[in-house]
Amino acid sequence: MDIDRLITERARRIDASGIRRIFELGARLPDPINLSIGQPDFPVPEPVRRAAVEAIEGGRNGYSLTAGTPALRGRIAEWLRTDLGWETSPDVADRAADALVTSGTSGALVLAFLCLLGPGDEAIIPDPYFLMYPHLATLCGGRAVRCDTYPDFRMTAERVEPLITERTRLVLLNSPSNPCGTVNTPEECRDLLDLCRRKNVLLISDEIYDEFCYPEHATEPAAGDASLKRCPSPARLPGAAEDVLLIRGFGKTYGVTGWRLGYAAGPRRLIAEMAKLQQYTYVCAPTPLQAGAMACFDVDIAPQVEEYRRRRDLVVERLSAVTELPQPGGAFYAFARVPERLGPATQFVERCLERSLLVIPGGVFSARDTHVRLSYAASMEQLERGLGVLVDLMSA
Ligand code: PMP
Repeated sequence: MDIDRLITERARRIDASGIRRIFELGARLPDPINLSIGQPDFPVPEPVRRAAVEAIEGGRNGYSLTAGTPALRGRIAEWLRTDLGWETSPDVADRAADALVTSGTSGALVLAFLCLLGPGDEAIIPDPYFLMYPHLATLCGGRAVRCDTYPDFRMTAERVEPLITERTRLVLLNSPSNPCGTVNTPEECRDLLDLCRRKNVLLISDEIYDEFCYPEHATEPAAGDASLKRCPSPARLPGAAEDVLLIRGFGKTYGVTGWRLGYAAGPRRLIAEMAKLQQYTYVCAPTPLQAGAMACFDVDIAPQVEEYRRRRDLVVERLSAVTELPQPGGAFYAFARVPERLGPATQFVERCLERSLLVIPGGVFSARDTHVRLSYAASMEQLERGLGVLVDLMSA
């Protein structure tokens, strides 16, 4: 059968060759120094593992409600109240409207895009961006409009405003960001939300890395507990629950990326539409793992964040001697400029591969191919070796 003839334009338009090529090249290396992986390298906290295992052993293996187990939704609602001051319904039966548990942060993004973007509609995304963003727009028949954030990687209202048209449906902010580690300031968050309100477009805040926010940026007191210093977010502003779609995840924070768990909260009308689509696509997030996620709320990952801050400092110290690197304020990525005389990033990455180092060329995440992304969610030993190669090649 000629399967090729049956493949849609929608699928064909997605080109995954850039990143695939890097992974294929990497797979051939006998002992790679792998700074390309965007997932934590610490073990899953024991109470989290235990809660999931107990749920499996206890027979909680069937479907959950579409929006997630009432217990987890309740726990998320409680956290959103403490962290952001978002008031949730006192009516437990109404909790579905508060938060939707999704199949990963990706699941929430897919549902949000499907609900908001129709053919010809536009989504404003940062450039550099998380790989999935432009493809989500394409999948919906819409268009991703890239907001160029070079050289400081800040997605600000001034940069976004000229890109808004009558087709714009959403602006996507990702702070702390992948691939740059940028953390937006409270003022930048406020100005972006003001702009979106003025233009009647939805602000989506992808906060998958919110817990990985280093002390100089974790300045915002939690609404219900001023002793907790949190990452700036548009979701902290008055009335934000009506105008911001907040998307967070469990995978990166607790080292369970394979569990596929995240959540979305925000305007009730939108959450209800997303829940409806979830019912007919993903059905629900994995039930026993939702029990595992309950335990996440009692785990303190401050030691891991402190360890990543140490590694961040090392990356900045070593690389800023040989190139331009705005200090990442969060997540576990650094986006370093390849000195111009060394050519495009893709070529530079090939030279890294010859020295067994795996990093990702900026062209995979951006219209420009001038930087490389490295992840410092790697052992200190791997990181030291990788930085040695980068410093060596960049000073040539
Ligand atoms: N958003 C960003 C910015 C990410 O970096 C990632 C994962 N790399 C995701 C969303 C998707 O995460 P998940 O595994 O929870 O689907």
